[in-house]
Amino acid sequence: MHKRAPQDELVFLPLGGSGEIGMNFNAYGFGPENDRQWIIVDCGVLFGREGHTPGVDLIMPDIRFLAEQRQNVLGIVATHAHEDHIGAIAPLWPSLRCPVYATPFTARLITGKLDEAGLASKVKVKEVPVGGSLTLGPFQLDFISITHSILEPNLLAIRTPLGVVAHTGDWKIDPDPLLGEETDTAALEKLGDEGVLALVCDSTNALVPGSSGSEATVRKELAELVATLKGRVAVTGFASNVARLDSVARAAKSAGRRVALVGRSMQKMVAAARETGYLKDFPPVLDETEVADLPAHKVLYLCTGSQGEPRAALARIADDSHPNVELREGDTVIFSSRVIPGNELAIADIQNKLAARGIALLTVDDHHVHVSGHPCRDELSQMYRWIRPKLALPVHGEMRHQVAHAELARQLQVPQAMVPENGQLFRLAPGRPVLIDEVPSGRVHMDGRVLVGEGAGLAKDRRAMAFAGLLVVSLVVDHKGRIAAPPTVLGEGIPEPVEEAVLKAVEATIDGNKRSDIDDLAENVRKAARRAAHDAWGKKPITRVLVNEI
Ligand SMILES: [Zn+2]
Ligand SMILES: [Zn+2]
Repeated sequence: MHKRAPQDELVFLPLGGSGEIGMNFNAYGFGPENDRQWIIVDCGVLFGREGHTPGVDLIMPDIRFLAEQRQNVLGIVATHAHEDHIGAIAPLWPSLRCPVYATPFTARLITGKLDEAGLASKVKVKEVPVGGSLTLGPFQLDFISITHSILEPNLLAIRTPLGVVAHTGDWKIDPDPLLGEETDTAALEKLGDEGVLALVCDSTNALVPGSSGSEATVRKELAELVATLKGRVAVTGFASNVARLDSVARAAKSAGRRVALVGRSMQKMVAAARETGYLKDFPPVLDETEVADLPAHKVLYLCTGSQGEPRAALARIADDSHPNVELREGDTVIFSSRVIPGNELAIADIQNKLAARGIALLTVDDHHVHVSGHPCRDELSQMYRWIRPKLALPVHGEMRHQVAHAELARQLQVPQAMVPENGQLFRLAPGRPVLIDEVPSGRVHMDGRVLVGEGAGLAKDRRAMAFAGLLVVSLVVDHKGRIAAPPTVLGEGIPEPVEEAVLKAVEATIDGNKRSDIDDLAENVRKAARRAAHDAWGKKPITRVLVNEI
């Protein structure tokens, strides 16, 4: 075991996932203040929202603080394979260049993503067996099996010479997870007996009373529902919930239906699960073109797009524009999922299109077709009883979830609870845990193929353009700075009468111009153009003036 020096400290630094559900990125540092070694736990993305970050699909944490000392970063450890935990590994790896550690199913999916990014030959992805251990410098990690809504979720027991931290990752207590390991309660209790400095824990459902429920009850409900349905059945849900896919496939089989996987991520998940030893008796799936010839009551489609994603299978089916899948009156779509906040309108849009065509909708509103993968308050309480930490550090939540979680921990007699924000550096040991520093943090956007800091304001400019268009005024000047041609105005997304009013205002400004500096003139023209647009229209577009010298 690593020896402890007098100046050594154990610190915790969240760079993503505190104050938001998504882009989880937590780092632990050990060593003297000016020479810490780091491990990173999870490296995930947040999905962009059309209205808020137009043109940006993926958002990830700003990790420059660690990138600047990447020689001290020992590795990225992934708790499980959800996008909000592994989705940023490929895009951020070039600024970290460290090995990646994960259990086999998670490692398989990470490798697939690195492959797509052209990084597979550069990145060392090292498999840790389920229930295995790993030593990285002063950190000794045990992977403890828990349950969630994906295969191989792990709680990490992070041991250091200054004490142990329990990092839950995402979890729930599912007494019957159907696939993969059950919660290793013996290991959790044993960890609690050891004495744990801090529990860094999932806050997603900290406001929800009771328990999240079991996949087994959803399996039963799906089987009963599918057995009663006539016509074609399509089930949509999260592709990463492999146990759920298995439940749907079993429901289909016992109802005499063949299963077709529709959507690339469904196919990828099933393949990854099979390659790592799961889904051994998953029924053989047919191609979506093969089932098209079967009678309606013999078909079940398992499709992506439960969140209303416009390019996913379900959106195209709802539009009746899918090349191989066609639903008609009397068919049924089961939404085996919840509505992720922000996606309400997109999902409603799809459901309206399906309903308009006489397709029946079954959702979690009136059927038990989904359970959450995150711990509700009774489950959180149980975890605190197992681990008995000295400090609660609620992460993986919006501020309201984190605050409710911290309050619950206090009610459960945890001696100390702190609500971390991204960029805050906490010393966990030695001594009483305390906030000691604030490091640069924030968000970066994957904008097309380019990573752009949120501070660059591109999303803000695009929102402004979506609201009031873009106006360009072109001026032509000679080498003495005199106007040499009539000005032109080009508008995008601007009503024609407004453009005409702007052109008049620009001409008047130029005519009234007396020997002024060309930069001053350009600025006066810009202001006049915006004012004219506002007078004619009530809106001020983004306005640019181009000066062309001849
Ligand atoms: Zn998560
Ligand atoms: Zn998760």
